[in-house]
Amino acid sequence: MHNYGLAVDFIIVSDDGKLALWTEAEKWTRVPAMAKSLVFDWGDFESFRDFPHLGMSGGLSTRDLQKGWRPNLISRVASAISENEAERENG
Ligand SMILES: [Zn+2]
Repeated sequence: MHNYGLAVDFIIVSDDGKLALWTEAEKWTRVPAMAKSLVFDWGDFESFRDFPHLGMSGGLSTRDLQKGWRPNLISRVASAISENEAERENG
């Protein structure tokens, strides 16, 4: 996904930004939960866990991307925003 510009890797840092926090379990699950509520896939793959990884495959596989297909992320983002707004309005 990185090769197609559809992924980023992130790191959790201390409040002063000087230390990488690899053991902050609560933060390592909160960030992906927020990202997954938008259009990101998180790196909790069946084959291995890559917690710092967020992808935007839009459900496409690497094989699909190799064929030239690209995810329709705009409609997915619009849909995710609508769902988040509806959840907020409903409490
Ligand atoms: Zn990655």
